[in-house]
Amino acid sequence: MTEERRVELAQRLESLRERIAAACAAVGRHPDEVALLAVTKTVPAEDVATLLDLGLATFGENRAQEAATKVTEVAKLRPDALPRWHFVGGLQRNKVRVVAPWVTRVESVDSVRLADALATAARRAVDDGTRDGPLPVLLQYSVDGDPKRGGVSDAGLLELADHVEGCPDLRLDGLMAVAPLGADPDAAFAAIADAAARLRAAHPGATELSAGMSADLDVAIRHGSTSVRVGTALVGERRITSR
Ligand SMILES: *Cc1c(COP(=O)(O)O)cnc(C)c1O
Repeated sequence: MTEERRVELAQRLESLRERIAAACAAVGRHPDEVALLAVTKTVPAEDVATLLDLGLATFGENRAQEAATKVTEVAKLRPDALPRWHFVGGLQRNKVRVVAPWVTRVESVDSVRLADALATAARRAVDDGTRDGPLPVLLQYSVDGDPKRGGVSDAGLLELADHVEGCPDLRLDGLMAVAPLGADPDAAFAAIADAAARLRAAHPGATELSAGMSADLDVAIRHGSTSVRVGTALVGERRITSR
């Protein structure tokens, strides 16, 4: 970890906080209403340690194995820190056991089968003492219903929510969505906010709306996002692998 990188991350974080504050101010929201999830996929553990030093506490990962390795590395680098890890990518059912011991929230639940697999893994982690309670989840909503990009479409949203609500080892916290590529972000986040409102009407505990990334977080905040997931704007294009 060079000093130069530390300064870069500190500056990027400051600009990002200013941007979030400005987006909130524009619609009369308080910046505390919008959590910042630092997406650290493909970013080395040293950067996560630096971001912890800079006051961030919640990190997003999208590959189970890479994340599991990083969680261990970060714990070695900052043994006294208490990072929270959110899983934000497509999760295969055979990988749920890799994340269950340490994941704070899974934001990408989009099927009954994945919910059931997570519930089983969460129960097992509680039984063996690696977790201390139900696993908080968000339902990943697909605005355009394109199955390739993950997410449950309108037709299945409330049914999936009812199912998750019925799983004692899961806790339904809200909705997550990615604006479709090439779509008008204003229309996309309006549709996402509408889905979040319908979910909340049926499940009052589902208050979280994880929406907005580097390119569109301002629009997402305007439409009620409670958590923005920011990678590039915070960590730059730095990558530990070629993907
Ligand atoms: C990578 C990723 C992000 C962050 O995207 P940036 O454009 O780098 O800010 C947010 N959400 C999900 C689901 C991601 O996979």
